[in-house]
Amino acid sequence: MEILIAKGAGFCFGVKRAIDIAFAMADKKQEGIYTFGPVIHNPQVVEKLREKGIAPTDDICKDDIKVLIIRTHGIPLDLMEGASKSGYEIVDATCPFVTKAQHYAKLLNDDGYQVIILGDRDHPEVRGLMSYAGDDALVIDGKEELPELKSRVGIVVQTTQPVDGLKRLMGKVIERSREIKVYNTICNSTALRLKETEEMAGEVDVMVVVGGKNSANTTQLANLCAARPVRTHHIETAEELRPEWFDGAGKVGITAGASTPDWIIDEVKERIKDIGGEQGDGT
Ligand code: SF4
Repeated sequence: MEILIAKGAGFCFGVKRAIDIAFAMADKKQEGIYTFGPVIHNPQVVEKLREKGIAPTDDICKDDIKVLIIRTHGIPLDLMEGASKSGYEIVDATCPFVTKAQHYAKLLNDDGYQVIILGDRDHPEVRGLMSYAGDDALVIDGKEELPELKSRVGIVVQTTQPVDGLKRLMGKVIERSREIKVYNTICNSTALRLKETEEMAGEVDVMVVVGGKNSANTTQLANLCAARPVRTHHIETAEELRPEWFDGAGKVGITAGASTPDWIIDEVKERIKDIGGEQGDGT
């Protein structure tokens, strides 16, 4: 059984940056360092940070905060302003691409556009974007019908959305509004990862997608594979792998979300080798 590993699997630029910031803070061994929410959507990395004394919190007013690290996905403006007034140090690990999307949401609102955010309304990045987008902003997940819109509409996109969703949304909005302005804030790393995973899923018998179950982009990779005729398994760690998943398989593909560390991908690869796999040349 040949094992292929997606070249782009694992940490993206923004996640690597946030992790480097958090672990550098941990090395200071100072008390009272917190991340606002999980710094990235990977429970194993969050646990490693906890072991080093950095815990996630949702409470910016917590008494013992000395340093607050802002997560990769950013936080809503009012919370950022509240934290800034609290007197403790703020270390901003928001991915610069997310910061850029926040900037565009604000710009569109300031210019009088009704802002539409294409994304998952429960995702922290989208909740953050909403806070910059004005009172008449809407979050659209791409599946529902659009409500009545204003005549001037501006669009920004959660960085991990697929570009096809943006194209569909633009097609729908143009039927309802006189003017649309679009900032394509989809992150390149996401688009490449999706493309590479799609190609891999077309040439293997089993796809193993590695990453947090709470990670939007890992779940998106798993859904993409599951919609194709390939046996797909979304796991967080190597312990979840089952030998019977690979019965009769000639090729297995491994891909991983942007918040999945290399050490977990390596463990998954080694476990599949134990089950009977042999590493191929990759994709
Ligand atoms: S996927 Fe893109 S936008 Fe999201 S954290 Fe990584 S680099 Fe930043």
